Amino acid sequence: TLRILLATVLDGRDTPKGIAITVQDITRETELNEAKSQFISNVSHELRTPLFNIKSIIETIQEFGNNLPVESQQEFLMTANQETDRLTRLVNDVLDLARLESGRSYQFEAIDLSQAIEQTLRTYQLNAQNKGISLVKESTPELPLIRGNYDLLLQVFTNLVGNALKFTPEGGKVTIRAYHLHPQADLAAQAVRIEVADTGMGIAPEDQPKIFERFVRVENRVHTLEGTGLGLCIVNDIVQKHESQIHVISEVGVGSTFWFDLPVHIPETLDVMLAEAAT
Ligand code: ADP
Repeated sequence: TLRILLATVLDGRDTPKGIAITVQDITRETELNEAKSQFISNVSHELRTPLFNIKSIIETIQEFGNNLPVESQQEFLMTANQETDRLTRLVNDVLDLARLESGRSYQFEAIDLSQAIEQTLRTYQLNAQNKGISLVKESTPELPLIRGNYDLLLQVFTNLVGNALKFTPEGGKVTIRAYHLHPQADLAAQAVRIEVADTGMGIAPEDQPKIFERFVRVENRVHTLEGTGLGLCIVNDIVQKHESQIHVISEVGVGSTFWFDLPVHIPETLDVMLAEAAT
């Protein structure tokens, strides 16, 4: 898409001297705007559906309340409860995404990743056990500290492991790996590689580039296994905020591995601290 701007050029006495033509390529801008409207319409639809269902249930119980068999009442209430959970997940994801994209700055500091991994394991261990999936950690013994934001990174682990458990059948395995890369190199070249691997259903090659896309194709994914379709957009945003890139390797029926690298924390020298203090 091209935007063409025409303007008359005047001389010092306001007499027309010529015409200036500016041509701008606004393809990307147009695409983003379209994707944004699509996103808003998808989200509105997704918010209205559970609200409509909850309201219908309330109205039914109001109208027929005591005349309904107890089991039906229980069933209605259970559905209302599930719909409320769905609404909560969606609102939380949309708010997280809006906050990440608002341009607010996050505090970055030295982070112990093994702590975030342990916390994730604790969160999901019971869920994994109930599903008959083994959830394990593999890590370089002494991980260096990395530079990042703890809460954001915890959310990345939570979303990736949550997905891995969701898309892996009983008897499968989910592994969180953390490796120290280039331990002999300069601090600036060192990194920690994070991998979340599962033995689940996998992702078709043509879908792999799409799953991280912001705003795009949310609707197609929304109904899969209770997801909101926003989890990986959030992961992508957070990893990019850490000046890194999320990748996926996956084979249908075999499993998926999501991975990214994080730069190690470089302790500030006195010079840097003095320079920062002076600005
Ligand atoms: P959702 O809330 O639907 O899980 P996500 O953005 O987290 O949304 O993921 C988008 C889609 O990517 C999922 O609906 C699913 O189709 C696919 N996906 C994500 N993680 C995995 C995984 N570990 N294994 C297989 N498919 C996955």
